[in-house]
Amino acid sequence: MLSKIKPFSDCRVLIVDDEITSRILFESILESFVTCQTASSGREAIQQCRQEVPDLVLLDMNMPDKNGLEVCQALRVFPETASIPIIFVTATMDVQVENACWEVGASDFVMKPVNASTLTHRIKTHLENKTRTEFLESMIYHDQLTGLYNRSYLAKEIPKTVKQVARDKGSVGAILIDIDRFKLFNDNYGHLEGDMCLQQVASIVENTVKRPKDAVIRFGGEEFLVLLPYVDENGARIVAEQIVSAVNNANIIHEYGIDGIVTISAGYATKPARDLIDSGVNPLIKNADVALFTAKEKGKNQAIGFFA
Ligand code: GH3
Ligand code: MG
Ligand code: MG
Repeated sequence: MLSKIKPFSDCRVLIVDDEITSRILFESILESFVTCQTASSGREAIQQCRQEVPDLVLLDMNMPDKNGLEVCQALRVFPETASIPIIFVTATMDVQVENACWEVGASDFVMKPVNASTLTHRIKTHLENKTRTEFLESMIYHDQLTGLYNRSYLAKEIPKTVKQVARDKGSVGAILIDIDRFKLFNDNYGHLEGDMCLQQVASIVENTVKRPKDAVIRFGGEEFLVLLPYVDENGARIVAEQIVSAVNNANIIHEYGIDGIVTISAGYATKPARDLIDSGVNPLIKNADVALFTAKEKGKNQAIGFFA
């Protein structure tokens, strides 16, 4: 679903310092506006960041096991921790140290003894940049009306998923969904009611598709695409039938709909992920589209599969 700009109170800052007095001091400055976590060594910091990525790291430069530069370097290697804002805290700062900080990917630094106001402002600035960027990124990949993923998400993220499934020798399923007689719904109730109906159907589809790696995409006006990694023919059929039933069970009134309610037709297909690495998911969607056409021809309000 579409995200909102995260408030400071939901942001987690990891304080890394080998001295307990420094950790306590920083925590007392920051805990009024963010959630603090602490690590007492470089190794522990890397471990914590990889377990659960914090929103910002406040990193002591001089520590006995791994110094701040080494920790920063290590965090920049892993994709999931590569873009965490990292603010160095150091007592000794000369041109060489400053340059070394930038080279390993520091976002900023503050001097010890720390001025509480400077530290607070620096942290707020970096968190603001991060949360706004995350929000804008989420806008790029989501449809504004329904909150579902859009086609930019499909183009950017799905090839990565396909590669992962191919490595595990799995197959990918696709379900193409189209609302039945939707033009009549708009004509009868108006475009705004039509928008609300689209939002309702989108949320039903999203709530029916439960696994975290499944992606629900607004594919066209009143068409949705569900991509299911690690799913075989039977799995795709079950999910497609569940979605058709869930929309039926929602009982959204549609005077000119089938049985007086909003219904959908669904076409599903699967292919081994390895067959989709070069071509992308288009051949899979094409098969789902053929199946959707058949579902419409056979009277709508049903799910049909097509495998070729
Ligand atoms: P079928 O049962 O064969 O699918 O017929 P249909 O009427 O659903 O299909 P058709 O393609 O003729 O109409 C799709 C309608 O979807 C037409 C268009 O006005 C409506 N639509 C597309 N995007 C939006 C939208 O964002 N909001 C609203 N309210 N309607 C939309
Ligand atoms: Mg359509
Ligand atoms: Mg339609």
